[in-house]
Amino acid sequence: MTAILIITLLLGAIVPINTIIWSRFLNTLAYISKDYELRDVILWLALNCGMWVINGVLQKLNKFYKDMQCDYVNLYITNMILDRIDSLEVSHFDDPILYDQLNKVNSEALSRSISILNNLVSILQNGVVLLGVIGIIILYKPAIIGLLLLTFIPVLVINIKISSKLHNIYNSRLENLRLVTAIKSLMIRYENIKELKITRTGPELIQRVSSTYNKYLTEDRGIRKRNTAIQASGDSLELLTKFCFTLYIIIDGIKRKLGVGLIVMYINSIENLMQAIGNMIVTFANTYNDNLYMSALFNLLDKEITSSSSGNEVSLNDFRTINLHHVYFKYPKLESYVLEDINLELRAGQSYLVVGLNGSGKTTLIKMLSGLYEPSSGYISVDGVDIKSYSKNSYRNNFSVVFQDFIHYPMSVEDNIKFGNYEDKANTLRMYEAAQRTGAAEFIHKLPHSYQTQLQNEWSEGTEISVGQWQKLAITRAFFADAPITIMDEPTASLDPVAEHEFYMGIEEMIRSRTCILISHRFTTAKLVDQIIVIDNHRICECGSFEELMCKEGKFREMFTLQAEKYNVGDVVNEGRLSVHG
Ligand code: ADP
Repeated sequence: MTAILIITLLLGAIVPINTIIWSRFLNTLAYISKDYELRDVILWLALNCGMWVINGVLQKLNKFYKDMQCDYVNLYITNMILDRIDSLEVSHFDDPILYDQLNKVNSEALSRSISILNNLVSILQNGVVLLGVIGIIILYKPAIIGLLLLTFIPVLVINIKISSKLHNIYNSRLENLRLVTAIKSLMIRYENIKELKITRTGPELIQRVSSTYNKYLTEDRGIRKRNTAIQASGDSLELLTKFCFTLYIIIDGIKRKLGVGLIVMYINSIENLMQAIGNMIVTFANTYNDNLYMSALFNLLDKEITSSSSGNEVSLNDFRTINLHHVYFKYPKLESYVLEDINLELRAGQSYLVVGLNGSGKTTLIKMLSGLYEPSSGYISVDGVDIKSYSKNSYRNNFSVVFQDFIHYPMSVEDNIKFGNYEDKANTLRMYEAAQRTGAAEFIHKLPHSYQTQLQNEWSEGTEISVGQWQKLAITRAFFADAPITIMDEPTASLDPVAEHEFYMGIEEMIRSRTCILISHRFTTAKLVDQIIVIDNHRICECGSFEELMCKEGKFREMFTLQAEKYNVGDVVNEGRLSVHG
């Protein structure tokens, strides 16, 4: 920045200096045989040439520093944005405005911040030019400066108005353009291609993308037409003003016998002055415009977040109970509660199965339990202490969770497992143990580079694995994390019956020996766990061991019987299906 500022000041100073040198050159040339010799002409011409050389070198240096600055600023702002995104809570991501802001920040903030820096430099450069040429014109006719400034005020107002209008249009389109981008990336995602081909949805999606673009194209056509007309009138006015001033200087110069050198110098100065004022105005308008787009970045940075790392540290390695006290929960966009009056006690070392119909709130319960969402009312405590008194990060570190929509990291198998606890990434032996336990080791050994295999076909040397194998990897990741509490949301949804059976055999000891919460529709797990929690109509309607719940004429018994009947061996044979749980 310092280098750019110095170079800019020098570049600014070159303009008036060169104007004077050029006028001296013209004078020596015009009066060569009278007052000057050829030597003087060559001297002034050489000086002028020298100035151009210096100008050229400075321009190149300026470009070098500007490019470097652009890269540094990009890196700095990208890190700042990513840090901020990382510090946001899950609840922030339920708000569509955040996505508009992120989109605006990603598409505009980087280039706009560079542009603001460039504008500042440009204001400085034009300021120096202005001072120089104003100095020359003051000696001639100071009133010209005031007159010129006046003619540029409407241009400034029009520029600012156009910028504001364009920004409003940009904002109004953000969400629709985001949708179009989402559709476009949906069409190139490897996992989507097969369904798109079979359902032949492609043309419909293309139609939606192009109709949105067409609508905006028509709008833009009108806007561009109007802006072009305004700008053309502005340019014509500027040329007319220049013509009038030039004519005035020529007539006045001839009258006052100023000589060709001075007349040309004043004409050049007027031109430079007009250019500098014009540049200043465009730069001011651009800065105003850039600032409008930068607001998204400032809004993102100003977003109120409670620090995830402040508060007491907690390790749940030796906790006794986690209690939910009259917990209610509502998502910001929903009117009604997803969970109502939840009272629950989870004991260390016990295993739990959460069952309930789709949408009954099972996943929401574990998201709250693992500290991703806060209850709307009621509270959660560990050994009687409200979890709000612990730092969010230290509380969450105690959970390893396999969500239904777990991440497919586009990296190696090893990374996919070790991301469960990257601080322990050197512990490769434990990675092998975890993979052995979940049964993932078997397919990993068959991959081209075993644990070093790059996953996903989108990458060179990448290998695609099946949905069930991805799920095994996600479970292995949770095992590798080795947190005091393990939560698995439908861990076997994509596993084949044999793999499911092996999976439960493999984790039976873990289920019995540590705190473990499972969400599953497969009631075969029901006999493995200590307690079953049944959620119905957003509330816990039953809670107890398998035997206890089977003795009751309740919801669990009803659901279990229904599933058992469905998988009755006779039925399975009749329907020609096969199940290992029959
Ligand atoms: P389950 O795991 O029992 O199938 P969930 O806990 O995922 O159910 O969802 C419970 C209800 O909350 C559903 O009606 C679902 O539509 C709604 N829901 C889930 N996540 C969100 C969210 N992020 N924002 C708004 N509503 C949500």
